[in-house]
Amino acid sequence: MKKLLVLATFLMLLGSYRTAWPADRPNILFIFSDDHACQAIGAYGSKINKTPNIDRIAKEGAVFRHSFCANSICGPSRACILTGKHSHKNGFLRNGNRFDSSQMTFPKLLQQVGYQTAIIGKWHLSSDPVGFDYWEILPGQGSYYNPDFIQMDGSRKRFEGYCTDLITDKAIDWLQEGRDADKPFMLMCQHKAPHRNWAPPPRYLTLFQDQEIPEPATLRDDYSGRSKLLKENEMSLARHFSWGHDMKLKEPNLFPDRFPSLGNGEYRRMTAEQKAAWDAAYEPENQAFIEAMKAGKLTDDDILKFKYQRYIKDYLRCVQAVDDSVGRLLNWLEDNGLADNTIVIYSSDQGFYLGEHGWYDKRWMFEESLKMPFLIRWPGVLTGGIESDALIQNIDYAPTFLEIAGAEIPEEIQGRSLVPVLKNNGQAPADWRDAIYYAYYENAAVHNVPVHDGVRTDRYKLMYFPRTREWNLFDLERDPQELNSVHDEPSYAEILAGLQKRYRDLRKFYEVNTATIPATRGDEPGWRQRNQLLIERAQQAADAQIAFIGDSITQGWEGAGKKVWEEFYAPRQAINLGIGGDRTEHVIWRLTHGNLGRIQPKVAVLMIGTNNTGHLLQDPQEVAQGVRKILDILREKLPDTHIVLHAVFPRGPHEMDLMRLNNVAINQIIRRYADDEFIHYVDINDHFLEPDGTISRSVMHDLLHLTEAGYRRWANALEPTLKELGL
Ligand code: CA
Repeated sequence: MKKLLVLATFLMLLGSYRTAWPADRPNILFIFSDDHACQAIGAYGSKINKTPNIDRIAKEGAVFRHSFCANSICGPSRACILTGKHSHKNGFLRNGNRFDSSQMTFPKLLQQVGYQTAIIGKWHLSSDPVGFDYWEILPGQGSYYNPDFIQMDGSRKRFEGYCTDLITDKAIDWLQEGRDADKPFMLMCQHKAPHRNWAPPPRYLTLFQDQEIPEPATLRDDYSGRSKLLKENEMSLARHFSWGHDMKLKEPNLFPDRFPSLGNGEYRRMTAEQKAAWDAAYEPENQAFIEAMKAGKLTDDDILKFKYQRYIKDYLRCVQAVDDSVGRLLNWLEDNGLADNTIVIYSSDQGFYLGEHGWYDKRWMFEESLKMPFLIRWPGVLTGGIESDALIQNIDYAPTFLEIAGAEIPEEIQGRSLVPVLKNNGQAPADWRDAIYYAYYENAAVHNVPVHDGVRTDRYKLMYFPRTREWNLFDLERDPQELNSVHDEPSYAEILAGLQKRYRDLRKFYEVNTATIPATRGDEPGWRQRNQLLIERAQQAADAQIAFIGDSITQGWEGAGKKVWEEFYAPRQAINLGIGGDRTEHVIWRLTHGNLGRIQPKVAVLMIGTNNTGHLLQDPQEVAQGVRKILDILREKLPDTHIVLHAVFPRGPHEMDLMRLNNVAINQIIRRYADDEFIHYVDINDHFLEPDGTISRSVMHDLLHLTEAGYRRWANALEPTLKELGL
C-alpha cells in the first residue's frame, strides 16, 4: 500500500496521474441523514426501534460512542464537515447564512488528487455545491413527498415518490451509470429524513401503530437546577407542537389555545393515491383524539402522552426508510464487487431530542443533540464490532477523508484525521484530544435557544451562556441526564476552575474571538425594540451629517446628554446609533443588518468596547480585533465617511482599576488603526479625569456613564476634530 502511494505520488509529479492511481485507493460512501439521534439507532442501544442495516456498518466496522457536532444545527454542521473547521472559521454560523463556496473544502481537495466527487440529496447551504463532479440537491429543506431537485444547470425537476427512496435511487444510478469506473469516488448521499415534520413513507404509515413507545425519563423536565434560559425554549412537545405540521391533524385548528397553527405542507403535495393511504392510516386515530378533546376527557398529561406517541412514531417511521436506504446501498456495493474497497460511513448532522427534556429539535449542548451518530466500515482496517470511546467531532471528517485519499491536509483545518484511531481499532492514541469545543450561535430565531458554548471531556461538560453570564457544569457520570448543574457546589470548585481554564485555552487554540463574531441580542425584547427603532431612524436620516455609534454611553445622548445634543448635534441632523449593553460583536451584527439604513454621514463617531471589558474582562487584543472589524465594515459600507475612533473612555474609581486598565490596553492597540485619512483616533480621556486620576461622580455618576456635565465635556472635546473634518 505504502509503496503504491509513493508510486502514485511519483506519477503525479510526472503529471500523468489521471490513469495511474492504484486501484486500491478506497472509495468513500458517506451516507448522511438529518436530525437522526443516536437514541434511535440499534448500534447505540436504542430501546425504541431497530435499524438492522445501519447496525451492519458497526458490526462489520466500528461505532463511535463519543461523536459530537461542533454546532448543533443543519447548515452549520454541514459547513463544519466540508471545511474541517469550526463555524466561526468557515463563516456559516447559523441557518440562513450563505456558504462561501470559494473557500477550501475537502471535496475540492479530493478532486485534485483524482477522486470523482458527487453529492445527492439535502445540501442546505444556499450557494450551489462546488467541488463536485456531479450534484443533484433538494432546494433548502426539501420535501418528503414528490420532492423537487435542483439540477446542475440550475433547473428544478419534480419527482414523484418518497424523498428518502428517490435520493437512494439517484445515488445508485450515479454509482451504476454516472461515474467513471476507473477513478475512486467519494459520494455523499444525504437524506432529508428524519427532519421535522417527520412525514413517513406510505409503506411505514402504520408501523408501530398498535404499540406504545416508552417515554424518555425526562419528558416532564421542569428545567430547574440549570440556566434560567432553558425555560424560554420554544421547542417543547407540551407547548410548541403544532396542529397540522406536527400532529398531522387536518385544518382548521380546533384548539388554537393548545396547539400552534401550522399546516401540513407535505399533505398538500401528495397525489390522490398518497393522500388516500395517508388518511386511512391517520384519520381514525385523529378523529378519536378530536372527539376525546371535545368531550373534555383529556388531561394536560394525556395530551402530552398522545403528542409524544404521535411524534416518536412518525420520527421512527422516517428513520426506518433511512435504514432501508443504507441496506440498499450496502447491497449494491456487495452485488457490484465494491464492498471491499469502499469505506462506508453513516452519520447525521446532529442529534435530536426524542422527548428528552420535553423537547423535539436540537441546538442545545445537552447530550442528545450534541451527539452525532458515526458508524464506519473499512474492510481490511477495522475488524468489526468495534466500539470506540475516542472524542471525535464533525470537523474531523474532512482531514480523515483527505488522509484516506492520500491528499495533504491543509494547516487551516482544525479537526484531526481519525485514521490513527481507526488503524488502532478505535482506541484513541496517547496524544488524542481530551476535550471538544462546541458553540451555538443562532440566537433570536425559531425555537428560541440562546447563544451558548462550552467544552466536553469524557466525564464533564461545561456550558457558558453569555446573555446571562451563567456557567453550567455537569458531571455526566453522576448525572447523565444533565438535570442538575453543579457549578456552584463547593466540592466541584476545582473541577469548575479546571474546565474554565480548558474552555479559555480551547477557545484560544481554535481562535474563537467572540468580539468579532456577529451576534444579535434579538432574544432580549428591549434590545429588539431599540434595534428596530434605529433601523427605522437610519432609513429616514439620509441627510444625517454625523452618526454616533456605540453602547449605553452613546445611547445616553438621548438621556443625560439630551440638552447638550440639542445644542451641538441636532442642528447637524446627527443620528444616535447607540444601544445600551452592546459589545463589539453586537455592533458588528447591527451594522450588517440594517442599522446604517440610508445614512451617508460626513463623520461617524465610534466608541465601543467597554462592555467587552465590563462583562468579561475580555482580552484587549480580542476586543481590539472587534473594533477593527467594525472599522472595516464602516469603511466598506460608508467609503466617503470620516470615522472618529474614540479611545474607550476611562472607568472605575482610580488608575489601577482593572477594568480601566483593560480599556487602556485596548486603546494602546486601536490607536494604531488610525490612517489619518479616513480613520482618526481621538483620545479625549483626560477630559473625564481629575488631576489625581480619579473620576468625579459629577462627570460619571456610576464611574462609567456620563452625567450631563460629562456629555458637555465630550462635546467640547470633540468639537475641534469635527470642525477639522468640515462640520
Ligand atoms: Ca439537522
